[in-house]
Amino acid sequence: LRDYVKGFPKESDLMIVIASDTVELKVKPGSGAVLVKNLYLSCDPYMGILMREPSPSTLALMDSFVPGKPIAGTGVSKVIDSDDLAFAKGDFVWGMVDWEEYSTVNPAGVFKIDVNINVPLSNYTGILGMTGLTAYAGFFEICSPKKGETVFVSAASGAVGQLVGQFAKLMGCYVVGSAGSKQKADLLLNKLGFDDAFNYKEEPDLDSALKRCFPKGIDIYFENVGGEMLDAVLLNMKTYGRISVCGMISQYFLETRDRLQNLPDIIFKRIKMEGFACYDFMDKFPKFLEFVLPYIKEGKLIYVEDIVEGLENGPRALVGLFNGQNIGKQVIQVARE
Ligand code: NDP
Repeated sequence: LRDYVKGFPKESDLMIVIASDTVELKVKPGSGAVLVKNLYLSCDPYMGILMREPSPSTLALMDSFVPGKPIAGTGVSKVIDSDDLAFAKGDFVWGMVDWEEYSTVNPAGVFKIDVNINVPLSNYTGILGMTGLTAYAGFFEICSPKKGETVFVSAASGAVGQLVGQFAKLMGCYVVGSAGSKQKADLLLNKLGFDDAFNYKEEPDLDSALKRCFPKGIDIYFENVGGEMLDAVLLNMKTYGRISVCGMISQYFLETRDRLQNLPDIIFKRIKMEGFACYDFMDKFPKFLEFVLPYIKEGKLIYVEDIVEGLENGPRALVGLFNGQNIGKQVIQVARE
């Protein structure tokens, strides 16, 4: 990170640093450390927030990145050397790593990957990692969905949204998604099994679009974007509806945030609206895996990834989240196994 970011993150806010000294790829005996080669890195919208100067609000979520140091996030890596008995050379792990080719990691911050589960390793940045847990906890724990209910998902073709939509279909709900292009809306309808979808950039009257898709109203809204979309959704919620506030990506980097007109609907309709952070639900991780793995095996859950190659393309990929360039989960492939 070059320096704290003001406004929207740009590619130039990040710099590539090529180490000048030779580093031995070995851990110090007695250090308890694990040295890994990074294979895949996850791009997540919260990372843009952590590129900004910390504020009391953002510190409630996480510490900001440090200017002059590598940014960090979840990734998938291969163990090169280990001073921890739980990890051996050649193991694959996922967890928090710095954005770099090789990392020394704290063993407490990474999980061993079971290679007998036959999925691409990149999936541990998404469907089988924190993104999957986010969709699972935000939908099931916060919204308590019931068969036949109506569900609306914004940023629906993205990393989290595509899973929420599929979970809702598996529960027997009626599911509509919004996304920022025709290609993404087609993906929702033709590949991800949504019942309906609309491109919010072509339907500026969001209230009409929602009324068309939900003539009887929305039971559950999975919120990823905030702002005008949330305002329009509030008008279309049913009494006793639930809103899981996962993200508000349209608001993170604005100088002046949108002022909502329809918040009193929360009272009039007795709506439950709750924000959450995925890491609050780590204790649900085993239950989440028990739920998703059989569906993945049976081909009933699919996952769309957008993989760019090369750490040098990381800044472009990360910043692309904030203007909708990614189609599906944005991942960076740093190296091959
Ligand atoms: P996505 O894969 O959905 O990528 C971000 C997408 O957001 C873009 O592709 C774009 O899709 C959409 N977007 C960007 N800017 C805007 C805007 N101004 N208005 C509307 N949509 C916009 O990311 P994730 O699935 O990883 O994250 C989705 C949301 O969930 C984010 O808000 C994120 O912060 C939040 N999140 C929260 C977590 C938690 O623990 N609470 C954990 C993980 C994510 P489009 O082309 O459709 O506009």
